[in-house]
Amino acid sequence: MNREIYAYKCKRCGTMHYPFRMVCKECKQNDFFEFDTVPLPKNGKLLTYTKVYNLPAQYEVATLGLGIVELENGMRMLGQIEIDNPKMGMPVKGNVEVVRREDYDDFYGMVFRDA
Ligand SMILES: [Zn+2]
Repeated sequence: MNREIYAYKCKRCGTMHYPFRMVCKECKQNDFFEFDTVPLPKNGKLLTYTKVYNLPAQYEVATLGLGIVELENGMRMLGQIEIDNPKMGMPVKGNVEVVRREDYDDFYGMVFRDA
């Protein structure tokens, strides 16, 4: 199943937001949830990354790679990266997967791999 993560596009000025904001950061007028949801692009470029150790038990992995990715549409997002030798500027491809499990809920996030 192909899951998507959605960005929120202001119906007044077209600015894309992720994560959701109550008020459009661009026109600052949109305070009535007038947003269209648009799936985030999956491909992008790795801008920077880090590794996190000693994660809480809810995470599926022992060590977590986190990266900031600039997506094809110019938006930047924080995602999990599963790349052996990450390099800044490398092309990456995202997939929406379970990144964290809790008692009754699975949390989905973007996982990026070598494109
Ligand atoms: Zn706006």
